Amino acid sequence: MDNARTAVAEVQSLFIDSQWVKPDSGRYFSTINPATEEAITQVPQAGERETDLAVAAARRAFDTGPWARMKPLDRGKMIFRIADVVEKQLEELSLVESLDTGKPLAFTRTRDVPFAVDLLRYYAGWANKIYGTTLPTDESALACTIREPIGVVAIITPWNSPLILSLMKIAPALATGNTLIHKPASWTPLSALKFAEICQAAGLPEGVYNVVTGPGDTVGTRLTTHPDVNKVSFTGETVTGKVIMEKAAGTLKRVSLELGGKSPHIVFADGDLEAAATFAAKGFCLNQGQICWAGSRLFVEEKVHDRFLEKLLRHVQDDWKVGDPMDPKTCVGPLISQKHLGDVLGYIETGKKEGAKLILGGDKPPMKKGYYLNPTVFDEVENSMKLAREEIFGPVLAVIPFKEFDEVIEKANDTFYGLAAGVWTNDMKKAYHTARRLKAGSVWVNCYGALDVMAPFGGFKQSGFGREFGQEVLPLYTETKTVWFQM
Ligand code: NAD
Repeated sequence: MDNARTAVAEVQSLFIDSQWVKPDSGRYFSTINPATEEAITQVPQAGERETDLAVAAARRAFDTGPWARMKPLDRGKMIFRIADVVEKQLEELSLVESLDTGKPLAFTRTRDVPFAVDLLRYYAGWANKIYGTTLPTDESALACTIREPIGVVAIITPWNSPLILSLMKIAPALATGNTLIHKPASWTPLSALKFAEICQAAGLPEGVYNVVTGPGDTVGTRLTTHPDVNKVSFTGETVTGKVIMEKAAGTLKRVSLELGGKSPHIVFADGDLEAAATFAAKGFCLNQGQICWAGSRLFVEEKVHDRFLEKLLRHVQDDWKVGDPMDPKTCVGPLISQKHLGDVLGYIETGKKEGAKLILGGDKPPMKKGYYLNPTVFDEVENSMKLAREEIFGPVLAVIPFKEFDEVIEKANDTFYGLAAGVWTNDMKKAYHTARRLKAGSVWVNCYGALDVMAPFGGFKQSGFGREFGQEVLPLYTETKTVWFQM
């Protein structure tokens, strides 16, 4: 804990052109530990001027620096070095991430930081494997394509899993030779600043990775409208994604958007009910339900409904203990802020008024401080209720009973989101047909929330476009150039 406190005390500057810079305005904001409601540290509140400085540094680094020009193998080696430093700092980074987000240390240590290392190593390996093609011309010409970096990329990220959600963009953007300006969410800016320290320690060339902390409507807007930014890679709410797309249109920036979800998790009667209950609990309790792919609409076939719910409630109560994120036994920490807790409690009240049946939680545990909420389950939810339509982003599950195959497919797809879905059945034909008919970027069969650096992840419909993970990301950070030699 002391390590983390010392660590965060050092990050009270912006990181621009590999220098630690104080904001001109002299303005700072507090980042709050959601478990104690106390300020962890002060973080600079950048404005347009600092954002412009960061863009200029990234532009210079891209246009005249070594990064985009070096041998891709050497770029890969640098990213491997960064991964090694992240791995060495696992304890410190996990503490910082847990303090800043309220995410249990049990997960930041074993999942977030190791996954961040995997992301860096996976994309470091890709750096020299991004090929163009030779085109089939006649003998009078030689024509080929070259995959070049896009240029200056703005990376705008949310607060719910800041380190991983940032590195899934930063790693491929760096591997492909771009230079970056990162604007982390104001609730959770610390891991981005720690990552800047790590890049500096590893020797990343000047101006390649810049961090500007500050509000979305000033820093974020400046990045999305700035003529020297070539691409915006964004993760956050669907409504913010729409604003970004509109603003980016002015300079026709490339845009990738990873947005919200209201994912259906379907349990057929012939599935492994015990395993399904374990994953259904994880699907809405992990990270306090503050996960884009949360399985927040649980469709349960009517004939096993009572039996299944008994198992589900047992798993929630036994496996998902609410408590201090620093306690290694804790699996559910606090929500990110007082405001967000208030919004989630508001949804719970609406659910009761709409006639859904509250069967678990709905209240705060007895901690004196912190934005805690007990995992909450509503049964007898209609797919038309607000509980089933809006992304609550908290540990709140809507159970929707169903009778028929076509009925559940129709209801599962009846949402403007399309991020993820889950299905439990031992009938592989049924599993296959379900997976094919669901309108979602990822469908998990007999598991839920399986993520891997190699498996593309992203949204259909208003859950966004573009993908994270895997090789599908690489074209999102490169331009294809055709070079035609007339002989
Ligand atoms: P948010 O949209 O409020 O903020 C995300 C980021 O955008 C923050 O850094 C914020 O400061 C910035 N921002 C806000 N307004 C902006 C503007 N006008 N221009 C530019 N930047 C702006 O989202 P949040 O509350 O931080 O995160 C939660 C949301 O993120 C949820 O909807 C969740 O589903 C989504 N999410 C999606 C994925 C995915 O992979 N699809 C992953 C994680 C989270």
